[in-house]
Parts: sequence; structure tokens; C-alpha cells
Amino acid sequence: MVRRKLVVGNWKMHGVSEDIGEIEAIAAAAARYPAVDSGLCLPATLIDRAARAAPGFPFGGQDVHFARRGAHTGCISAAMLVDAGATMVIVGHSERREAQHETDADVRAKAEAGVTAGLLTILCIGESLLVRESGDAVPTVGAQLDASLPRDMDVAGLAIAYEPIWAIGTGKTPTIDDIGEMHAALRQRLRSAYGDAGETIRILYGGSVKPGNANEIFSVMDVDGALVGGASLKAADFVPIVEAAALKA
Ligand code: PEP
Repeated sequence: MVRRKLVVGNWKMHGVSEDIGEIEAIAAAAARYPAVDSGLCLPATLIDRAARAAPGFPFGGQDVHFARRGAHTGCISAAMLVDAGATMVIVGHSERREAQHETDADVRAKAEAGVTAGLLTILCIGESLLVRESGDAVPTVGAQLDASLPRDMDVAGLAIAYEPIWAIGTGKTPTIDDIGEMHAALRQRLRSAYGDAGETIRILYGGSVKPGNANEIFSVMDVDGALVGGASLKAADFVPIVEAAALKA
């Protein structure tokens, strides 16, 4: 099955008004690769300005509350993201799972909120170094996926990002064989959960993707794109990753 490649930048807690120029540069350059779906998940404060500055380019949030509205100080609903101009959202990033103690059940509820609102919802999973070194990465991440997946809904708007925690922001990556083994196992779990629809869900790799390793990573079977942190902040780094995806499209 052919799945369109998806390359999304996660700006984390970076970006203020003066960075709009860089966002415009990324959007303009990424548009040269129409065979690839690309976009940036920005701090919520920037989404509206970015969407006005680069209309048509996908922007997203980095988290969403599971509730539609209510007494949740400091939180953002899916409807608010849509209202700001977002078309995507990341849920379950390991930095939130760790620092905000988000459980698989929390992540599942957030994923369901994102999908229900029509957002392309990128659900993150990944193992710690301890788990990787114990040899249990594949079953551990598989169980995390099963427990975090939305249930009883159309999952056309869902994507998965496999992000080994020890690879995020470290410059380290799993071997190509390890990425391939994990993505194949995740694909199998998606098929078990959703049948044929599990075949259409894109599985991104994330963790120290750079212009220098993107080509090799995108060559791996069942790697349908990338979630990119540090290298998404500058067009000079991000656009070559989009280009590498286009070469495999
Ligand atoms: C991320 O945090 O989602 C990520 C992949 O970061 P980096 O590319 O910097 O490792």
C-alpha cells in the first residue's frame, strides 16, 4: 500500500513573532515538494500568526486537552486549535508523558479528541534507554501503542510517531534494522486494531532525524515520514529532510 510521506516539525517551546520569517521560508520551500505532506507543530501562541503568514501550509499544536471545554486552566481544546488555524496536533510526546505524567489512557483520550475534531493527530510512543538495552523495546512500545490508540472511531486522521526517548535531541538513532523491526511490529498491531484501516495509518520515525540521515531512515520499509525536533527550526535543515522524503515518494 502506498502511503504519502509525512514530515512534521515539532518546535517545542521555541518560537516568537520574530520567527515568522523562518516559518514563511519553511512553508515556501516545502511547497516545492507537493508529493510530501509537511507541516509544523508550533507553540499555540504562534499558530494563528503563522496560519495568516503562510496560508495553506499545515500548522498544528503540540498537545490538546481531551475535553471539549470546561474548567481546565491553562489547557487548550481541539476546537481552540482548529479556531486558531491548526490542522494537526501531536499527542503523547515523551516530554509530556514524562514531565506532565501523562498515561496511556490520557494520551488515548487526547488522541480521540484530536481525531474527533478532524485534526491530523500524531500519536507518539517510544521506549526508554533502559527498555531498549533490556531487549524489550518491541513488546513494550507495542503495548504502549495498543493502550494509547483511539477506539470506536474512524482513524483516517491518525498518524503514529515512533520516537525512542533516548534518541530525542541526543544525535543518537537506533540502527536501521531496529527501526525496521519496530515499524513492522507497529504496523502489525495497527492491522490487528483496525483491520484494513490500519494499513493506511502513517508511522513516522522521530529522534535526531537530520539532513544527513533522513535518506537512509526513509528507505526503511514502513517508515512513512518523520517527526523532527531540533532540525525543524531552520529551513536550511528541515527542507532537505522534506526533499529526502520526496525522493522516496
Ligand atoms: C522530537 O522531540 O519529537 C524530536 C524528534 O526531537 P529531535 O529531532 O530534536 O530529536
